[in-house]
Order: sequence, then structure tokens, then C-alpha cells
Amino acid sequence: MSERYMEVVTTPVFLEKRLSGNEPPRCVDGRPSDDSEQGPQMLGGSINVILLECIYNGRSLNEQNAVDDIENLHEMEFNTGAHRGQHAHGEASDCGFADRMRDILRVAVEKRDLITKHLLSIYDQNKESFPPLPFNELMEKAYEKIEAYSPDEIKIKGEELVALVEKTDSKVETVRDDHTEEAAFVNLVEGTTLDTSGLNQEGTQVFNLDIFEVAKHAKASGVPEDFSIPASLILYAATEIVLVEDKGKPALPVEIHF
Ligand SMILES: [Zn+2]
Repeated sequence: MSERYMEVVTTPVFLEKRLSGNEPPRCVDGRPSDDSEQGPQMLGGSINVILLECIYNGRSLNEQNAVDDIENLHEMEFNTGAHRGQHAHGEASDCGFADRMRDILRVAVEKRDLITKHLLSIYDQNKESFPPLPFNELMEKAYEKIEAYSPDEIKIKGEELVALVEKTDSKVETVRDDHTEEAAFVNLVEGTTLDTSGLNQEGTQVFNLDIFEVAKHAKASGVPEDFSIPASLILYAATEIVLVEDKGKPALPVEIHF
């Protein structure tokens, strides 16, 4: 086996970093950033939580509701954050999740069977590390709300939404370069995140979702974890399809970090 082949099949190692709990959330984006506190990784940073709250309660994602969600998080003593990228222009923030939210929701519904099968196979492969879960029931319930939520309820997205989050006392960081993510991690270790900057120094990029950190912020927003966890995994899978596979790149391996 040549060394080159070895490189292709090796999944990057998860570089775990402990969180202080005060860092503002950042995106699952794996690109380098020069101004990041390396906070917990969520879809679009705190935008993940805003969208979950709106879907869960059937509310429009408009300016007022987004500001309410951010201010509520501050009252609950959570910092908030989002990001832009070097390719931001006009209405595009270059945060794929913020820019493509409507498409991501649409794909989550259109590809329900595929996403459910994919998540079930990941769960099955790692079953011994999880407590017994009513997997199908959790997915069913999460999808009930996701399918009832029209993408047209997203009234504000992209740069407009990132700028609004920024204006509402949040940290907005900037990532640079192009996407070259090699894998999509789901981190199950509470109070930790991925040291993306360490990985970037090794020339590697990966996506990472700190699922229990999302659950913590969502809970402070009134969204229980039996919704926030499956719904975020569904949206993460849909994001990967929209931002990677639909752009003609091969599907990324999903890795669970315990
Ligand atoms: Zn992003």
C-alpha cells in the first residue's frame, strides 16, 4: 500500500480542547480563523439555536424573534456568536449554514429517508457507546416539527442575519481560505470542542458539531434535548449534502468522538 493511498483513507484525529464555558459559539466550519476563541461548534454558531427555537415553537425566523432568542441566551448567561468568511459578498456571509438555511431545510425534508438511514447506521455502529435510545421515535418526532416548518418562515438569513446577530452583542469571527474538509465529526464529549487551529496547522480541515453544547444552549432557549439533538443531527446531515455533495464533492465520512 503506497503512502499516498494511506493518506487518503486515514481520517483525521480529533484534537480535543476543553472549553471554559465562556467562549462564544462558532460554526462547524473547519476553515482557519485568526480571530477565533475556538468556542463550541454549532451550525452557524448561535444561529443553530435560533433556528431550533423557531422550528420547535413554530415561529418565523424574523428579526424580532432572532433578537429575542439572542437576548434570552444572554440573560441565561450564555455568550453568542456567528461568523463570516473571506468570500462574503452582498447578501452572502460565506457561512454556508446561514446563507443556505432554506435549502438545508428543504433538503432535510426531501432526503428524510436517506438521512434517517444514514444516522441510524452511525448509531448502530457506535451503539455500545450510547445509552439505549428510542432512535426511531426521536427521529420521527424531530421530523414532525421540521416537516411542519416551511422554509418560507425563514425571513432573514445570510449576511443580514449574521449582521443582526453581531449587532446584538455577539462575537462574529471570520474564517479564511476555501473549504477542504475531509470528515464531519460529531463530538459527544460535553465541555469540549475541536482544536481546529491545531488541525489547520497540520494542513487539515474537518467539520465538527459539539452536539451536547448545542443541547445546552437550546435548553436555555426552552428547547428540550430530545428535540435539539436529533434535529441538529438532521440539519447537520442536510448541510453536508447541500454544501459538499450537491457541489459535486464525495460524501464526507462521519466520525463520532466519544
Ligand atoms: Zn458557518
